[in-house]
Amino acid sequence: MSTIRFNALEELNNRPVPEVVFPSEKISDYFASDVFDLPKMQKYLSKEAYTNVINSIETGVKINRKTADQIASGMKEWATGKGATHYTHWFHPLTGNTAEKHDAFISIDQNGNSFETFDGELLVQQEPDASSFPHGGLRNTFEARGYTAWDPTSPAFIVDKTLCIPTIFVSYTGEALDYKTPLLKSLNILDTAATDVCKYFDKSVSKVIATLGWEQEYFLVDEALFKARPDLVLTGRTLMGHASAKDQQLSDHYFSSIPERVLAYMKEFEIEAHKLGIPIKTRHNEVAPNQFECAPIFEEANLANDHNQLLMKIMRKVAKKHRFKVLFHEKPFAGINGSGKHNNWSLATDTGVNLLKPGNTPKSNLLFLTFLVNIITAVKKHSDLLRATIMSAGNQHRLGANEAPPAIISVFLGSKLDDMLNKIEQKVPEKKKSQDISQNLKLDIAKIPEILLDNTDRNRTSPFAFTGNRFEFRAVGSNENNAGPLLALNTALADQLIQFKKEVDALINEGIKKDDAVLRILRKYIKESKNVRFEGNGYSDDWVKEAKKRGLTNIREAGKAFEAFISKRTIDLYERNNVLNSKELHSRYEIRICEYVQKIQIEARILGDLAINHIIPTAIKYQNTLITSVKELKEIIEDESDLEALASRRIGTIKKISHHTTQISLMTQEMIEERKKANIIENCIDRIEKYELKVKPYLDKIRYHIDKLELIVDDEIWPLPKYRELLFNR
Ligand code: ADP
Ligand code: MG
Repeated sequence: MSTIRFNALEELNNRPVPEVVFPSEKISDYFASDVFDLPKMQKYLSKEAYTNVINSIETGVKINRKTADQIASGMKEWATGKGATHYTHWFHPLTGNTAEKHDAFISIDQNGNSFETFDGELLVQQEPDASSFPHGGLRNTFEARGYTAWDPTSPAFIVDKTLCIPTIFVSYTGEALDYKTPLLKSLNILDTAATDVCKYFDKSVSKVIATLGWEQEYFLVDEALFKARPDLVLTGRTLMGHASAKDQQLSDHYFSSIPERVLAYMKEFEIEAHKLGIPIKTRHNEVAPNQFECAPIFEEANLANDHNQLLMKIMRKVAKKHRFKVLFHEKPFAGINGSGKHNNWSLATDTGVNLLKPGNTPKSNLLFLTFLVNIITAVKKHSDLLRATIMSAGNQHRLGANEAPPAIISVFLGSKLDDMLNKIEQKVPEKKKSQDISQNLKLDIAKIPEILLDNTDRNRTSPFAFTGNRFEFRAVGSNENNAGPLLALNTALADQLIQFKKEVDALINEGIKKDDAVLRILRKYIKESKNVRFEGNGYSDDWVKEAKKRGLTNIREAGKAFEAFISKRTIDLYERNNVLNSKELHSRYEIRICEYVQKIQIEARILGDLAINHIIPTAIKYQNTLITSVKELKEIIEDESDLEALASRRIGTIKKISHHTTQISLMTQEMIEERKKANIIENCIDRIEKYELKVKPYLDKIRYHIDKLELIVDDEIWPLPKYRELLFNR
């Protein structure tokens, strides 16, 4: 074993499991202790300020300066009381990470005395220099200023003695430079549209929120081994490595008992998460070795997404203490499962109803069907956009890779619900008297809760599956900011509900009874959206053929998939609903593309470096050993045929090594040439095709030969930790 690998494994074996100290016996004792949540606001704010914040959270009304001052002062008192020295606006720029710039609470008066300050202005708005954040052509350098503005719907929290205030991030000219701004807009419009539709069934509904429960998958790799893999360090995934003799084929990792060192890590990040009010509930081993998952109790979608971003940060931080590296890359290891971030998504009313949970009466089930069918229709109409929101250099390895949802967007309902929709579609003859129609259907509709109870089959191969009381968007990548896919879903559904209401109202105006009008339009939608529904195996080749017949798109190329961000359909959708304008969409399109191109570029560079400076020299070293040994054989064995018999296999190996090293060297050169050709092109949008179709294929081609060499070369000198070491040491 090479010294690098030996040392890494040595270090790992001598590593004690860090002790985890629980702040208290019960989680509820310390849950949200680092959050300026409603109970704390009540304690630290005047009655008036508190009422104003609640009002702002519930109705979106702006907070005035006087109230802001009061809130700031209460927040400061609470935060400094807990030892905070700094504050920061905390936002989600389009880098995919969160951003923060810390300022101390400190001020100095005329006499040189220092004191702690924080006022409403600092709470409500900051002006970070935005020039170094991705903007996709939105900002000129002379207007590099960006604004962050407080989002009172997500409470402030303390991390590392810094008070973090969740904010949106917009340009000087008002365009969104982040994920949160359009997400909040999409949630607002969905609220209005969904509330209007709910009122057909229940006049007392006055607010609808989207709920999100994410499941976060991740890998853990020991830090020492990680550091010995430059590809992991720079790209988050292994660009080479032969499959381990054993990986996930025995299915012995999923749900098995959690290794001690991993469990200590989980406990510790969960403590941190709980203190921050992130309601982590579930932890388990995932399918692949060293792959794990955690999931919270679902929350309002914007808050849930903030919590997911915050948790990812905490997980990275706590991993350091436990000498792990947490990998959020969607496909860190070839040949075994990658990681996703399933988005469980539903809608809830302020009257306490989950709109995707069937009720006990025909009326509540008609409400359920209304939302179900409108969602299916929205997904059908905007499937290309949904795919674009989850496409990335990392997630591209998963989509359609036979272990994760395909690049074809379809909806799974479960056979019974699927049948039910078919019945509705067929059972209502157009000409039948309206009264009969609803009577007929109500009989069936009343049965929904019953049929759902025993409809527990889960289709793991569907990108968008109904799971009893919510939809699960399973195609989202583990490293993705959920806001992207969510805001697309919210906006598509809001738009669809507005359309639905228009059509139903038109029928009502013609004198048709409300329930009948609703059913008639639903029936029309069921027909129109039918071919996005798929109950079969999403991984099968037959589905690819079938989907093609149905006219569903199957876009696996990233450059093509991203085009949906700026299609007329998408621009119309977002502009019509005031969520994003064409300029903002073009900027997002460009940012996603540039990110893709840069990631492939980095992968290509580091692979070239490893191939030429690590792998080839190692292979040649081993080859030379073999050559020397053949020469030495010649010296001691005189008989030609004896020599032939003894040396031929070694000579064969020498030739194999020659073949692979030559291929690696040639291909690396070709890959560099392709990069050069691509780099002449100024703009990422025009460059992506070259990077995706000309440069990227070399990553796999070169890897093939390196992985072959790994099987040939003496283990003692192989420089990089192998898959079996990376995946089975913890
Ligand atoms: P599974 O792996 O079987 O899908 P998990 O328990 O791992 O189930 O995850 C289920 C997730 O779905 C949890 O995060 C949970 O909070 C979430 N969830 C449950 N009900 C809803 C809902 N109404 N809206 C949004 N998310 C929900
Ligand atoms: Mg799930």
